[in-house]
Amino acid sequence: MENNIQNQYAAYAKMASIVRQSPILKCECGSQFWREVYVIRKVNGILVGSSKPYEVLPQNVLVCDKCGRLCDEYKSDIEVEEDNASKIKLQV
Ligand SMILES: [Zn+2]
Repeated sequence: MENNIQNQYAAYAKMASIVRQSPILKCECGSQFWREVYVIRKVNGILVGSSKPYEVLPQNVLVCDKCGRLCDEYKSDIEVEEDNASKIKLQV
């Protein structure tokens, strides 16, 4: 039992070390801080087994806390329209 706890702690410590040594993702503006926002998808009800014409499903994404740009990691999933360098309109 005690050995199992030690193994779990060692696994946790190893994972924490891996995370600390990983690079921090930065925005094009240089900021390394992000905030969570949501886009809302209208999903065809038939596709999700609903009797309604559509279901509303929120999807969380990260935008730069400084300039508002959508994190690059989401750009393949979400179309964005830049109306200027500091504002992003999310389109679904
Ligand atoms: Zn930024």
